[in-house]
Amino acid sequence: MNISNLKAQLKAIAYQFNGHIWFSHDQQYHIRKRVFNHGINNTPLVIIEASCEEDIRLAINFANEHNLAISVKGGGHSNTGSCVVNDGIVLDMSTFKSISLAEDRQSVRLGAGVRNRELDAYTTQYGLAVPLGTCPDVGVIGATLGGGIGFLSRKFGLTCDSLVNVTMIDALGIKRIVDKVSDPDLFWALSGGGGCQFGVITEITLKVYVVPSTVIGGFIEWPICEAKKVLKHYSDEVLSSARDYFVYAYLSRASQGREKISIMVFSTATKSECDAFFKRISNWGIGAKMDISEKTYLEMQANAYQSELCVYWRNGFVSHALSSQFIDDVIDCYVNCPDDYCGIMFDPLGGAIQDRACEDSAFVHRKSNFICSVTGISGGVKIVSEIERWVDDSHATLSTFYNGQAYQNYEFLAKDELKSYFGKNSLKLLALKHRYDPKCRFYGSLSRHLIEA
Ligand SMILES: Cc1cc2nc3c(=O)[nH]c(=O)nc-3n(C[C@H](O)[C@H](O)[C@H](O)COP(=O)(O)OP(=O)(O)OC[C@H]3O[C@@H](n4cnc5c(N)ncnc54)[C@H](O)[C@@H]3O)c2cc1C
Repeated sequence: MNISNLKAQLKAIAYQFNGHIWFSHDQQYHIRKRVFNHGINNTPLVIIEASCEEDIRLAINFANEHNLAISVKGGGHSNTGSCVVNDGIVLDMSTFKSISLAEDRQSVRLGAGVRNRELDAYTTQYGLAVPLGTCPDVGVIGATLGGGIGFLSRKFGLTCDSLVNVTMIDALGIKRIVDKVSDPDLFWALSGGGGCQFGVITEITLKVYVVPSTVIGGFIEWPICEAKKVLKHYSDEVLSSARDYFVYAYLSRASQGREKISIMVFSTATKSECDAFFKRISNWGIGAKMDISEKTYLEMQANAYQSELCVYWRNGFVSHALSSQFIDDVIDCYVNCPDDYCGIMFDPLGGAIQDRACEDSAFVHRKSNFICSVTGISGGVKIVSEIERWVDDSHATLSTFYNGQAYQNYEFLAKDELKSYFGKNSLKLLALKHRYDPKCRFYGSLSRHLIEA
């Protein structure tokens, strides 16, 4: 059926939806299809702002009748805009905003429209937190489905390690409440197996943890000439430090275009433990500038990510320590960086993330120690080609040090997405896809792989 017939049919049933339904002539369609990455301009057939489970079922039935793909939009932060499928149905979940703490204060239940900042603001009222990523606008469920790494992850694990249960509408429109006991395989897959693979998730329950009333964190930076020493120490620190510490490293430019190596530190350790830690770190290189202070966990999570930019990012996991050759190559790549906004970033893993085996959940990267991301960023409506080239070339150079895997939450459409996101867990995920979504209704990486195969 052609696009105008499909639209006409949808318009004819629009009155059945409780939520809004938007077509390309509506202003809201153009607002809602926007994602964090302004280089993406996908054009779905329709955007449906679901307001209840019945809306989701109606959309799934329509998609089944007309063989249309469905993508689910949570916080809209997938780098490649995979939450907005071309020519298919986008289910915008932004009205699913409920959050409630369990009576025993061990877990929190939240809807599919809740973002990190909203969940943090809610849980910290009770002195509690879920280990979430550092971008306040990321959707909690979108991040959970691919893992979820943030300041508390070395202490309490990934966001998906906190998953208790999931409420999902599947490809037949059937509501499923999935937990470790009711459906261990699907629960395994929803714990890191990526976004939009098996159904539309309306709510999840996550474990919460007690966080101290204040934590310690901030930045330390050195001139770029210190980068080799700093990255070597950084690597040793990540491999040996206590779970209370979480340290990012970033090669970037300061506002005046000055190149620098900086680290962003977070700690739940006591003030005196932190003082000793920071004294040691300041000696990693000459000329350290420190901006470290005691603040609330919520303040620490209030990071400003500039919006309305185009991003083009590539990443890979490093299994071992950062070798001397790798560090040299990282610095060489960085020095060729064509723009002040771009950089090379390291996320640490380790600690509680490694307490579980790689096959215990769909998140296969547990034994890795770092994610290295080459981050291209530009203004305008399309990534600048010089930046794209720099990212691709740097990624190709650094890939020889990676273990062949990439972080599914820092999505990029790698040649073999499935193998790089899920490694040896891919086969089990594919088998589950055949069981729960054999017609590839949901436009996640498993569908993309099966459709291309
Ligand atoms: C600026 C920035 C900072 C980031 N920082 C971190 C970080 O610190 N740590 C980290 O781990 N990650 C981080 N990420 C990655 C982020 O966690 C992922 O991109 C995540 O998938 C985004 O979720 P979302 O809901 O915002 O995005 P969306 O694009 O809306 O969703 C992402 C994927 O999940 C699917 N999905 C979303 N909601 C549902 C649902 N209810 N049911 C079924 N499928 C659903 C979507 O269809 C899509 O496939 C960052 C990303 C950006 C752009």
